Amino acid sequence: MTEPLTIVLAAPRGFCAGVDRAIQIVEQALEKWGSPVYVRHEIVHNRHVVDSLRAKGAVFVEELDECPVDRPVVFSAHGVPKSVPADAARRNMIYVDATCPLVSKVHLEAERYHKQGRHVVLIGHEGHPEVIGTMGQLPEGAMSLVEDEAQAAVFEPPVPGMPLAFATQTTLSVDDTARIVEILKRRFPDVAAPNKEDICYATTNRQDAVKAIAPQVDAFVVIGSSNSSNSKRLVEVAKAAGCADARLISGPADIDANWLRGVSRLGISAGASAPEVLVEQVVSACRALRPVNVEEVAVAREDIRFKLPRELAS
Ligand code: SF4
Repeated sequence: MTEPLTIVLAAPRGFCAGVDRAIQIVEQALEKWGSPVYVRHEIVHNRHVVDSLRAKGAVFVEELDECPVDRPVVFSAHGVPKSVPADAARRNMIYVDATCPLVSKVHLEAERYHKQGRHVVLIGHEGHPEVIGTMGQLPEGAMSLVEDEAQAAVFEPPVPGMPLAFATQTTLSVDDTARIVEILKRRFPDVAAPNKEDICYATTNRQDAVKAIAPQVDAFVVIGSSNSSNSKRLVEVAKAAGCADARLISGPADIDANWLRGVSRLGISAGASAPEVLVEQVVSACRALRPVNVEEVAVAREDIRFKLPRELAS
């Protein structure tokens, strides 16, 4: 007889309010203007979401100049440099900004620091669209990127003694970021800090849920795409919290029967851009191999909703 598998679902998991809003924006834009609606960059980092919006008439491009001027364009949830909406306005395009309000909050914060004459240290991952968008809020040279503790230990302001402030990407590891901030504060005691954490509620809650489960399971899967920052962080958090066998999977096809054979308790979470249907499909894929019991460990309740932009609010 096959030994039953206990699945421990992390809660909260999956879609956050910013992702939910970004998807609704594309859907409503399609309803309002018909297809095609162009979307600059993947609206959220999830293949399943992107494919289903493409099937409804969205066209995904990387740059604004790939969009015809007579069709609407949506900017992704990660945020865009200031030059992008400015270009769209110059070309008389209809555009809708799906930047998550919690990313916009970081943009405003960076501007405020800049106006105060501070050089801004952005803690984040080079090349991630959110980092490109946030750095693009200020003139060239007004912000420096620090990716890890080693870089924080050697960072120097462009002008010695210049006042500093820091801001962070919203989807970082809470614990890694705290260590980077500690180094900056030790080296620059007057560095200005955000009033409230830049790492968003959804990132924090998903990491807390993974931390609660990781020590009590043999293996962990995080459902999410390989370019999803918050999903990759959840895998690292599971490993750091005591589950060495943690992996990122994009969906049910990645469930490996051989690997699962040695597992009695399996933790499952999903990144903020991964829909719940993928979690259900992964549980079904496990059930096809073994009898399954499902438990859930919830560490927080989320009821945050963001309003749609004015151009689409009904
Ligand atoms: S992960 Fe956080 S910052 Fe990113 S879209 Fe979701 S709520 Fe917004």
